[in-house]
Amino acid sequence: MKMVLQRVAVVGAGAAGLCAARHILSRPNSFACPVVFELTDNIGGTWCYVERIGQDDHGRPIHSSMYRDLRTNLPKEVMAFPDFPFDPQLSSFLPHQEIQKYLKKYCHAHNIWPQIRFNTMVEKVKPVVLAKEVEKNTMWEVTSCDLSGHQKTEIFDSVFVCSGHYSEPYIPNVPGMKNFKGKLLHSHLYRYAEPFSGQSVVVLGAKASGLDISIELVKAGAKVTLSHGRPRLTFPLPSGIRQSSPVVAIEDNGSIRFQDGSVDQADTLMFCTGYKFRFPFLDADQLGLKIQDHMVSPLYRYMMPPAFPSLFFISICKMICPFPNFNCQVQFALAVLDGSVSLPSRAEMEDDVHRVLRDKVDRGFQQRHLLDMFEDQWEYCDMLARTAGFPPLPPVIQGLYKEVWRQRQVHPENYRSHNYRLISDSQWELLK
Ligand code: FAD
Repeated sequence: MKMVLQRVAVVGAGAAGLCAARHILSRPNSFACPVVFELTDNIGGTWCYVERIGQDDHGRPIHSSMYRDLRTNLPKEVMAFPDFPFDPQLSSFLPHQEIQKYLKKYCHAHNIWPQIRFNTMVEKVKPVVLAKEVEKNTMWEVTSCDLSGHQKTEIFDSVFVCSGHYSEPYIPNVPGMKNFKGKLLHSHLYRYAEPFSGQSVVVLGAKASGLDISIELVKAGAKVTLSHGRPRLTFPLPSGIRQSSPVVAIEDNGSIRFQDGSVDQADTLMFCTGYKFRFPFLDADQLGLKIQDHMVSPLYRYMMPPAFPSLFFISICKMICPFPNFNCQVQFALAVLDGSVSLPSRAEMEDDVHRVLRDKVDRGFQQRHLLDMFEDQWEYCDMLARTAGFPPLPPVIQGLYKEVWRQRQVHPENYRSHNYRLISDSQWELLK
């Protein structure tokens, strides 16, 4: 009997979409070659540095938030897909160009290129329910549009949403913002530091980008006030960076008022305040989902809407080791599709999501951080591997990740000078 191969659409050719394509292609007995829709003319998503800001030649918003001098904040030993190491000659912390090269190599090695439709934007993903029993009988209508404006609608068995979530700036509401007389900028639009030389810049937010960009600005001769709501940072910051409490308002005369009552002037207000979720091609109500700035819910196993478990959001979690996490999510999703993992009922999946989120709230996670994983990521990836029967992440990745976090807290300016070698799990155990 001839097997009917499932057809999967993948939205996006960033790291998550490429990982999805790679694993689909490795299961030719269950899946047809995937169709990977990619908005831009290149692979890599975030890792595709585009100096231009705003819109591309075709009037589409620039997707990548990469800045020119970014070096990774995770070492290559931790960043890599577990089945595809980086070149051993490279140092641990890499310039962004090397990640783009790595993803291109991954694409070649797994013959993904021919599956990608470049310059093609997915405009609509819509479930088509063929019978009463929704879970087993949903097909997906995917409407895409190429550069000539030609629209096409095709039917798929499943859709992997890999469109990323570091493109749509989140800017908190600061009362009086219209009074600010200098330049307002989000880190999505930041490319390099030279234009800020000699300026005073207030950077809002002290997470990875806020810290990195502050350090770049100071090195280029800017005077930086790093405004954040975290406990005062106790690690050494370069001289030239002053910490302050959160910005609470802009006064009528354009000065910036901070929570501690102090007032200051600045040439630029730089929002390093993160990004919000946006899936313009999905109808959240139709999918039984609530999509907010910082939350998409309910998603069973942080991936599937319980009402439509053949739609998979890959890479929705934050504070993770991204590529290894995608690798686990994709393999789990494919095990669901090929039937080797059977799912509980819709009601049970919904209960499970609520239980997981309630537990996070009980542990003190704020609403806007419910998709942050931190330590939970290891048990999460292990659970996906156990359930779907693929090899778990090597424990050494967890060990190295923790060590790098520790180093970052102590030496934010030069933790990247360290070179790690991926030692074996048994050697790592001995070091602990
Ligand atoms: P993306 O890379 O954003 O890819 C999404 C793709 O989908 C894009 O190519 C986009 O064009 C396409 N797309 C979007 N909408 C559509 C549509 N409607 N139709 C068709 N295509 C569409 N991670 C690390 O591991 N280490 C780091 O050091 C690190 N540093 C980072 C620094 C910055 C400044 C940022 C923003 C992120 C960083 N990350 C880092 C996280 C990084 O984003 C992830 O590692 C990973 O690259 C995300 O991959 P993705 O495929 O989910 O999304």
